Amino acid sequence: MMKENILEVQKNIAEACKRAGRDPSEVTLIAVSKTKPLSDIEEAIACGMTEFGENKVQELLEKMEQLHTPVQWHLIGHLQTNKVKYIVDKGLLIHSVDSIRLARELQKEAVKRQTHCNILLEVNVAREDSKFGFFYEEVPDAVREISAFSNVHIQGLMTIAPFVENPEDNRPVFAKLHKLLLDIKSINIDNVNMSVLSMGMTNDYMAAVEEGATMVRVGTGIFGMRDYNI
Ligand SMILES: *Cc1c(COP(=O)(O)O)cnc(C)c1O
Repeated sequence: MMKENILEVQKNIAEACKRAGRDPSEVTLIAVSKTKPLSDIEEAIACGMTEFGENKVQELLEKMEQLHTPVQWHLIGHLQTNKVKYIVDKGLLIHSVDSIRLARELQKEAVKRQTHCNILLEVNVAREDSKFGFFYEEVPDAVREISAFSNVHIQGLMTIAPFVENPEDNRPVFAKLHKLLLDIKSINIDNVNMSVLSMGMTNDYMAAVEEGATMVRVGTGIFGMRDYNI
């Protein structure tokens, strides 16, 4: 079942790339394994998956420790400053940097541990009250400020688009974030690499790929529905 799911998602990404005139190798599929057991991750690895996303620090650390196969991990959920010390030296890509304060804490802990950390800035493109992230117009100044942090390296931008019935409704959100990425890239700021555009989930990853996503975060589409009551 999982094998078929993964093949289906990969096929859909390839087709979305074709429609957009893109090369599928530009798009990284992240398997979002939150709430799922280690055995599911192992099964996904056996199907060729190498990138995994988790939204909670504790769960991520447990899975990292228990899993003996090396994979690339992504932290995609809100990160509290008091948890930074546990993850800053773990080689993660942190997709969810949503404040200067959090970036400053990452810098402080990275320096202390003589390590470096790669981040994306989370952008609340649709300005939803329920979501974390910088507002669109705050991003250029935030990028400039964080670019001065020696041990924190911005790799790009991330957004969690609104929950919609019709994924086409999120297309303008994705297009807007892509434009922001290109605008910032064109300024060429030292210590800023605008190469990653993390957007698109099970419901809307095809539209996201058509609009320029380089990372899509797919949970349900690979592992099936989540049960939060276990
Ligand atoms: C849970 C989650 C996903 C995956 O959601 P699905 O709809 O199951 O694909 C992607 N991104 C973030 C930030 C998430 O928290």
